[in-house]
Amino acid sequence: MASDHARERDLMNQAITRQSNNPAEKILCVEDSPTQAAHIKNILTTQGYQVEVAADGYQSLALARDMKPDLVVLDIMLPDIDGYSVCRKLRSQSVSYIPVLMLSARQEVEDRLDGLEVGADDYLPKPFDARELLARVKSLLRIKRLNDDLQERLTEAQESFNVWRRVAVTDHLTGLYNRHYLQKMLQEEVAVAARYGNPLSCIMLDIDHFRNFNNQYGHLVGDEVLRGLAAILGRGSRKSDVIARYGGEEFVLLLPMTDLAAAANTARRLCRDVAATPLASEAGNLRVTISLGVAGLPDPDVNTPLKLIAKADSALYQAKAMGRNRVVVIGPGDSEPQEFTE
Ligand code: GH3
Ligand code: MG
Ligand code: MG
Ligand code: MG
Repeated sequence: MASDHARERDLMNQAITRQSNNPAEKILCVEDSPTQAAHIKNILTTQGYQVEVAADGYQSLALARDMKPDLVVLDIMLPDIDGYSVCRKLRSQSVSYIPVLMLSARQEVEDRLDGLEVGADDYLPKPFDARELLARVKSLLRIKRLNDDLQERLTEAQESFNVWRRVAVTDHLTGLYNRHYLQKMLQEEVAVAARYGNPLSCIMLDIDHFRNFNNQYGHLVGDEVLRGLAAILGRGSRKSDVIARYGGEEFVLLLPMTDLAAAANTARRLCRDVAATPLASEAGNLRVTISLGVAGLPDPDVNTPLKLIAKADSALYQAKAMGRNRVVVIGPGDSEPQEFTE
């Protein structure tokens, strides 16, 4: 209980400190009559508000841009454009919400409604009582603070949502996309390719004898190889390509708008690059090789994401069986897979 009280007191103190630390709130007063402007300014400054005066509509819009007021007290009858237009323009030029208190000698219900319609937050008929002006100013500024606070929290929430969304689709070891994201993209890309008859290729690859490599050099060196391999896969890829870590040491490349011949070229280049590039430095310049299977759309036998992956996997399996460090392509209607040894 005692600690609850203490916490409550702390919170109140914090709130009070925050309020007293607030720099003076800025009010823009738009009023063409110098006497009235001086009167309003006087009422507001004695309460500690910082007040700037604009004598016409266009001046007020320019001033609002510069000073970024927390509140605008706005006369309707102005020499250039009227208060309604000022209010409308103010709303469209400000990024953040600025409350507007309209002030006018015109008291008809219609005028009030017009003011509220164009986005004013409150309306005070002239002549007004100083206490009423202050009460309304205070309440509008409170709304402004609440609104700013809410906006800030929304921005924070949006930022952490973006971070989490990135984390959710990323493989933490390599920084490539994860399997979950690949599956989502497979669904989308296969659907698009099937609908428009566009080519879509899939390369599945796997490190050769990686168990032995791990046994010989250790898992950490193995991890370094996985990261180095991911970097090679990412190099020279297109923005639209999806490169994902599919499993432990298996990767998938999904290449939209790429036919089988082009995908086979890419696969061959990757096979060569990996074999020629030292991927782990700690225990000497260590190299690995990879085997790759390629399949793609259009293909009458491949009409689902699962079948595309299965066909690429089957090509990969054959590349392993034929001796590894090579590319196998299975095209539509191929009874014999095409094999490319590097
Ligand atoms: P193959 O040429 O037939 O693919 O032989 P392989 O030994 O690579 O294949 P297998 O699937 O039997 O073994 C995969 C190995 O990959 C097992 C494990 O040691 C290694 N591996 C899987 N995930 C990771 C990882 O995150 N880090 C490391 N260092 N090794 C991994
Ligand atoms: Mg006026
Ligand atoms: Mg494997
Ligand atoms: Mg392997």
